Amino acid sequence: MKFEPLPFFDERRAGVEMIVLHATAFEAEEALRLYADKKVSCHYFIGSDGEVYRLVDENKRAWHAGAGRWREFSEDINSRSIGIELANKTLGQNCFSKEQKDALSGLLKDIVRRYEIKQVNIVGHSDIAPARKADPGKGFFWQELANEGIGLWPDLRDADKMAEKTLPDLLAMIGYDTVNIRAAAYAFCRRFLAGKVATVEDVWALDANPGEADDALLQDEEFERVLRATAYKYLSESNTPCRI
Ligand SMILES: [Zn+2]
Repeated sequence: MKFEPLPFFDERRAGVEMIVLHATAFEAEEALRLYADKKVSCHYFIGSDGEVYRLVDENKRAWHAGAGRWREFSEDINSRSIGIELANKTLGQNCFSKEQKDALSGLLKDIVRRYEIKQVNIVGHSDIAPARKADPGKGFFWQELANEGIGLWPDLRDADKMAEKTLPDLLAMIGYDTVNIRAAAYAFCRRFLAGKVATVEDVWALDANPGEADDALLQDEEFERVLRATAYKYLSESNTPCRI
């Protein structure tokens, strides 16, 4: 691990309860320059070669999340979270490297053990800010992490258990801010049903406009089934710490 301290942080106003995962199109050197320009930061950065950089001390409040909501957390996600950014030149639309996956997996296992992070509180930037952010992107390896005990993955056999609930109810049960249902639905797909998310040629446009679900997606049977099964999983494991 390399230590490249950034001065962009302040004091936490709450304890660590979440992990927010990000992707950027830049490798370390350029990303560090960009953080300095924009006066932002995260706790860890992982290059596509798997090199891990520690940028801000975990007990400080890094500036990575911006405005966002998740479950009971309606403000100041930065105070409650550890932010980890992964380099990916497609902004997470395509796969991440094996070296990066291994590095993140090792880092996450250490962090979730030390803070007893709940399964439901491992999130992507697009989960907490669906109308504003698209990272870590549809190519992110959520299912592989869930297989290792980090984060949840739906079991489709559970879908029928949530038959009575409306789409906004289901999205809110998982944790999404449902002020913009279309954006929340699309963010959900980025994470749990990536095949439904369009690939955007222009990565910079994606950064500025994460996109929204269209009517066809909101009425899509597979989307509804996966959403119902996921909501059940989040409901039944709302207090479970990561199992590793
Ligand atoms: Zn981000």
